[in-house]
Amino acid sequence: MCYAIPGRIKAITGKIAFVDYFGEERKALNEMEELRKGDFVYAQGGYIIERIPLAEAEEILSVWKETFFELQEADLRLSRLDLEKAGIDRKLGFILDGTIAGRPLSETHAVYLLGRTDPRELDLIFKSANFLRQKHLKNACCVHGILEISNACSQPCLYCGISTHHRTLKRYRMTPDEIVENACLAVARHGFKALVLQSGEDAGYSIGELASVVRRIKAKTPALIFISFGEIGFHGLEQLYEAGARGLLMRFETSNPALYSNLHPGSDLETRLSHLREAYKLGYLLITGGLVGVPGQTREDLVRDLFLAKELHAEMMSFGPFLPHPNTPLKDSGVPEENDILKVLAVTRLLEPTEARILITTAFETLSENARRKGLLAGANSVMLNVTPAQYRRQYEIYPNRAYGDDGIEKQIEDVVNLLASLGRAPTDLGISRAQGRQPRGFALGTPELTG
Ligand code: SAM
Repeated sequence: MCYAIPGRIKAITGKIAFVDYFGEERKALNEMEELRKGDFVYAQGGYIIERIPLAEAEEILSVWKETFFELQEADLRLSRLDLEKAGIDRKLGFILDGTIAGRPLSETHAVYLLGRTDPRELDLIFKSANFLRQKHLKNACCVHGILEISNACSQPCLYCGISTHHRTLKRYRMTPDEIVENACLAVARHGFKALVLQSGEDAGYSIGELASVVRRIKAKTPALIFISFGEIGFHGLEQLYEAGARGLLMRFETSNPALYSNLHPGSDLETRLSHLREAYKLGYLLITGGLVGVPGQTREDLVRDLFLAKELHAEMMSFGPFLPHPNTPLKDSGVPEENDILKVLAVTRLLEPTEARILITTAFETLSENARRKGLLAGANSVMLNVTPAQYRRQYEIYPNRAYGDDGIEKQIEDVVNLLASLGRAPTDLGISRAQGRQPRGFALGTPELTG
């Protein structure tokens, strides 16, 4: 199974490679000095991650070529916008026409959109977002893997089921060997090209150990590695970048400083944001975003969250519902509705029509059975599959009854590939990146052999 279509290098200018995918040209950052025009490569998150032998690339492309254009046609059909807006509120029509014409969405208009409840209006908002996604990003869909390496956590976040509040939770910490083995399996056997390594704030691993894990994975696989270990400090970020990590998944959770401090006793929003800003400066691709529906959050807060994710140069936006956990102080809170989340996904796309990868979170998939399908038709274009070993998966209990808690990775892959095909989406991650234009730090990625 393969989650990327090989592209052919058309030209290289400095660190930017121009990659051709069946006639569509994309740019990607290149850190491989040996790369030449005519080479075939995989790109992820806007990075060239691997050069592929000609015969292998041609074999994969021959399979894709047939379906690639069929998928694009299906996607185009589904995203076609019916501009007949009879009966639709004039203000809504004006805002949506504006975004489709390329006018930036204002905060006031975003608040207005999030306040809509009429099903016909919601339908139009979702379709407009899907139309823009199709227009600018075509039918590419990111499929990343996430490996939850430890559920140990020292933080008392009021909402989180692996926080210190959950005293009865059985804690686990994968050994470095287990992490490397499972990460390599996800890449070599299951075909993932991008992997997130996540844990609670777990002082049980030193930065040196985490760096060694990343280095070992990078020595065996070409995957794009995202780290998600919480606030590890600037030096920690630097050490892990040097070890080969190129992405950081860290949500700021909420852009409201007072709400942030309430939800995270002893922590402050500015420290979190400074990690994200520092990581961006170092060259990390950022996946960030926040919780939707935490007690005390207003619609205006939420809109500022979306604008903050954009301001932080998020490569991928991750906004999902807060789901109360019975062993936390927020156990009696309400749960957002499906449409609340779909509105957030759609408004995110209207705000960020041309570049953003917008993730359908597992929390949303837990909240709503058809989250993936509906989210993909409301502007989203990314999913994450859980590659945590079965014996640990249920213990990573940030909220109860997580979707795909018991599904093996093969079943998750089969489901997502079938869904994407039914929507005309290709599980690719063509290189269009916010990383472009930045000067990445000069650590060579190399072209390691895939071992299994
Ligand atoms: N320690 C890392 C960090 O600080 O980013 C990553 C682990 S943390 C458990 C991962 C994410 O889980 C958080 O960013 C938070 O948004 C999400 N999360 C935690 N509890 C949740 C809940 N009850 N409902 C939905 N999402 C939750």
